[in-house]
Amino acid sequence: MSDMQPSVLVVEDEQAQREVLCYNLADEGFRVIQAKDGNEALLLIEEEAPDLILLDWMLPGTSGIEVCRQIKVKPAFRMTPVIMISARSEEVDKVRGLETGADDYIVKPYSIIELLARVKAQLRRSRPASVGIRLRYEDIVLDAEAHKVFRGQHEMKLGPTEFRLLTTFMERPGRVWSREQLLDRVWGRDIYVDTRTVDVHIGRLRKALGHHGEGDPIRTVRGAGYALG
Ligand code: CA
Repeated sequence: MSDMQPSVLVVEDEQAQREVLCYNLADEGFRVIQAKDGNEALLLIEEEAPDLILLDWMLPGTSGIEVCRQIKVKPAFRMTPVIMISARSEEVDKVRGLETGADDYIVKPYSIIELLARVKAQLRRSRPASVGIRLRYEDIVLDAEAHKVFRGQHEMKLGPTEFRLLTTFMERPGRVWSREQLLDRVWGRDIYVDTRTVDVHIGRLRKALGHHGEGDPIRTVRGAGYALG
């Protein structure tokens, strides 16, 4: 695993199964968060904004399918991949699961190898840099595994915060990020940092990217935040 360790929320009421999942995900380098039921899952999603959710269908109280429905209607979490886990193998259930917005569906008993492969496949789409994919935007290439950034022929020297900022931008070119969203993503939710700090680091990132006189790829969106391109 490379920069910006992705977080996975495991929602499973059966303790033994939850432990196996958490153990294996942590072993693969993920930051693992766990919930025992649907209500706890909904709270943790709001608090932690995980990068991916592994969601058991049959849960006490709010069911997995209801949790999925609730998070997929929220703009902040619509893009978060959800993999539903179910003991029910009927095709109609799979269709129902995917209809509520789940991104993938896996049937118990599953192989942990296959489950990890599905997790990575989802993250490759939603958080490509986190699984070591080389990102490219116009003449900028970011290699998260080697922790290097190139622009044309030049290697750019970025500080760790600027590197994480650029990674965030390059994972979703064109998307406008508010300062608060960048703080959550780059600095983490547990740390209090003034939003003006974001501006300071954006300034440093721009300077580093334009070191050889290249154009500024970062757009300031008045009243909204920043975007790449
Ligand atoms: Ca269950």
